[in-house]
This record gives sequence, structure tokens and C-alpha cells, in this order.
Amino acid sequence: MSLIKRWMEEQEEQDVFINALKAVIENEEIDNEISLGISKKILDDESIDNLSDKQINVFNKYIDPHLTPECDSDECLGNGKIQMIDLPEAYNQKFELGGLYCEECVNYKIRLQNLMDEDD
Ligand SMILES: [Zn+2]
Repeated sequence: MSLIKRWMEEQEEQDVFINALKAVIENEEIDNEISLGISKKILDDESIDNLSDKQINVFNKYIDPHLTPECDSDECLGNGKIQMIDLPEAYNQKFELGGLYCEECVNYKIRLQNLMDEDD
């Protein structure tokens, strides 16, 4: 793989991570002050490279699980987890759909809603 391609992929992964973390913070999933402070530092730096070992531990324990939460559906059509890349959209649809769902469930529920709208 060329270096520039690898660099671009890393940038993309970083964007996915930062956008997911932003969505988590904006939706006030993290209410612990220390975790919140560390999250904001990550967003400012756009990286976790500047965190201390202690901060990394807090991140792994209290922040990371929010980045790939479980799908709220009892009969999940995906693998039960919401992927980091789908998290901002899941939060966008949360109010409308009444829960935090994985991409498969979001798509299914939107299709269902559209079908019901057509009946009106
Ligand atoms: Zn699901």
C-alpha cells in the first residue's frame, strides 16, 4: 500500500473516531467530569496521543464503550452493536426512531416509516 493511501485511511479512521466521540458528547452520554474533560481534550487535539496513561485508562473504561454501544432493538438486524462510523447517524435518528439503533435497524425502521406514510 502506498504511503499516501495509508495516510488517507488513517485520517479517515481518525475522522470516524472524532465524529463518533463528538456525537457521544453532544448527546450528553458522558456526565462524569473527569471523563468529560478527557473527551474534550481528545476533541481539541483530534488525537489520543497526548493523553497520559491514567487518562488512557479512563478513556478505555468509561468513554470507549460509548463509541460502539449496543443497538436498542430487541431483534437487531445487525450484529447487536452500533459501529463507530454509524454512530453520528444513529444519534441523528434517535429522537425520530425512539432509540439508538445500528445502521441495519435504522434503515429498516426508516423503510417501515416510509411505507406507513404512504398509507396515509
Ligand atoms: Zn440493530
